[in-house]
Amino acid sequence: MPRSRLHWWILAGMLFGALWGTLLNVAYLDGFEAQAREELLGDEWTVEEEISASREIQQAVQRRFSQTVFGGLAHGVGTIFLSLLMMVVIPLVFSSLVSGVAGMGSARSLGRFGWKAGSWYVTTSFLAVLTGLLLVNLFRPGQGSTMPLPISATAQVQVPESGWDLVLRFFPSNIVRSAAEFDLIHLILFAILFGVFLLQAPERLRSSLILFFEGVFQVMMKMTLFVIKLAPIGVAALIARLVAQTGPSVFVELAGYAATVAAALAVHLFVTLPLLFFLLTRRNPFIVMKAMSPALLTAFSTASSSGTLPLTMQRLEGGVGVGHKSTSFVLPLGATINMDGTALYECVAVLFVANVYAAVNPAFTMTMGAQVTVVILALVVSIGAAGIPHAGLVMMVIIFKAVGLPIELTALLWAVDRPLDMCRTMVNVWSDSMGTTAIALSEKDLDEKVLFDSSEPASAVITSAESGSGAATQSDSRRSRTG
Ligand code: ASP
Repeated sequence: MPRSRLHWWILAGMLFGALWGTLLNVAYLDGFEAQAREELLGDEWTVEEEISASREIQQAVQRRFSQTVFGGLAHGVGTIFLSLLMMVVIPLVFSSLVSGVAGMGSARSLGRFGWKAGSWYVTTSFLAVLTGLLLVNLFRPGQGSTMPLPISATAQVQVPESGWDLVLRFFPSNIVRSAAEFDLIHLILFAILFGVFLLQAPERLRSSLILFFEGVFQVMMKMTLFVIKLAPIGVAALIARLVAQTGPSVFVELAGYAATVAAALAVHLFVTLPLLFFLLTRRNPFIVMKAMSPALLTAFSTASSSGTLPLTMQRLEGGVGVGHKSTSFVLPLGATINMDGTALYECVAVLFVANVYAAVNPAFTMTMGAQVTVVILALVVSIGAAGIPHAGLVMMVIIFKAVGLPIELTALLWAVDRPLDMCRTMVNVWSDSMGTTAIALSEKDLDEKVLFDSSEPASAVITSAESGSGAATQSDSRRSRTG
């Protein structure tokens, strides 16, 4: 199926799943709950007993659903889809980071560009996550939810106890075990170090290794797109499985969550990034927005920053006047590494699910330490996510695992992921565009006659450095990031 139609198929899958789940819900839920209560609590019980056994009751109900023909189908297909998603994450992140880091340093003269781009990426992603964190704590979507969620038997609360706990979490002792246990943060650290030290290998080995990891990355991107193409079926099954136990009310809860993500993205798009750009360059960010609108709208409709890359590059060069030296380095890397919208979304989505989960499972609390973990991982995950549709959601399992949320609850998020993906991708591309323009100006690689008033004094606040020595060769930086 053509990729542009995929979201309609996902929507159709979701509606189908909602119908499927509602039918299961109406046909079986009351009976299954009564049987589970009788089995676990006997003939008579108090309200307190019922509350304290609610987790076991829900697990028993879930088991009974999966023993029916259509409930079993939803369970099986949904589990396969989740497994496939998890299957691609480790090689995808590893190859994406190794080839990204290795590519960043392959031309020695890129150091200055690298620092500026890196500072922009980190600062803006961090501001994005903070915006998300602020709004999710303000609006608290999902809090006090009454959804009877299916609770996974394996979910454990694993929040760090102290600051040291949090720091120690980042250091792997056995990278194979980390991969097997899906401890992605370890893998990410290892991949970054691997990329850095790969650059110190002798030239012959270095270029073959870079080529190898770029090849793996391309293959993994394709494999991920294939798995995502299965989303309509997977989503139908996951939604059916969820709605069977919660009833259709689940969709009402999602409205608050979607509104929170959208509001936070709007703040970042229209306030934070333009303000930062203005502070750094003293130029009007909104005329850049107008010039970039074809790329932003393409990002919106494709939900892929990698797919939009050629257009972003063309608009920045042709519409804003940014030199190719800047676009060819800052953009390809930014399309994969700099994802403000994705970072913000990860943070809001995880905290929303945590709110919903905490409402039904009092043993689960999101402490400050856990929120800090979410913030850090949201940044890390946004760096590791590929610039393709739904990549942010695929990667979210990493954060779910780290804070002890059952990964099947990602089903909640699939239901509204497409519109949110379109919005966050636009923010991702907008941040790349703002960053590239600001860096180009500071590097005297911006032809101001193209967009800005050429008589305007060039009072860039970012330290201006000589142009000419930081050029990426096209073949270096264009490499294969277009996906
Ligand atoms: N679709 C986003 C992008 O391409 C990544 C994500 O899913 O957040 O930028």
